Amino acid sequence: MSAHIRSREEIAARVKALESMLIDKGIMTTQAIDRMVEIYENEVGPQLGARVVAKAWADPEFKARLLHDASEACAELGISGLQGEDMVVVEDTPEVHNVIVCTLCSCYPWPVLGLPPNWYKDPQYRAAITREPRKVLSEAFSYDLPTDVEVRVWDSSSEMRYWVLPQRPAGTEGWSEEQLYELVTRDSMIGVGTTKSAEDVA
Ligand code: FE
Repeated sequence: MSAHIRSREEIAARVKALESMLIDKGIMTTQAIDRMVEIYENEVGPQLGARVVAKAWADPEFKARLLHDASEACAELGISGLQGEDMVVVEDTPEVHNVIVCTLCSCYPWPVLGLPPNWYKDPQYRAAITREPRKVLSEAFSYDLPTDVEVRVWDSSSEMRYWVLPQRPAGTEGWSEEQLYELVTRDSMIGVGTTKSAEDVA
């Protein structure tokens, strides 16, 4: 890989040019590209994050390492790469609920969550979630938090990419890591949604 550091705009321009070329030459269709983005947005990335969360739920020592240095703990599982050098995991508890955002642009922990969804990059989400997190969670994500739970919003940057360790769902005592994995959702690692419940996957 090139050692040159490129600006976001330059990378975006190159990707756009490459995309047009692939379409012009008939190598790929717009639909195929959209599908690829969708895969990275919803499938490939978040599945890796879900692995990490399931392991943290099942293994307290791993969880401690994850909260101490997320990038290093993920590297233990072979998960690392671009935009994942400085990841910080924040833990949900019965008292505190965490949400992530990048108010400046769209910083996001790619190796564990994949590409950020479009709404994450939307200026409206970026502005409103810091001002009125409860309202945004309720109105945009139909996620109503109990009033006695404190909401903390974490503003990511290129130096610090936050993501959330959601609470382990109730009724999952004795579940294997494999079973726990099925409960993790992308939105729960962003903080805008819940995990699945034990009944959901039973
Ligand atoms: Fe950013």
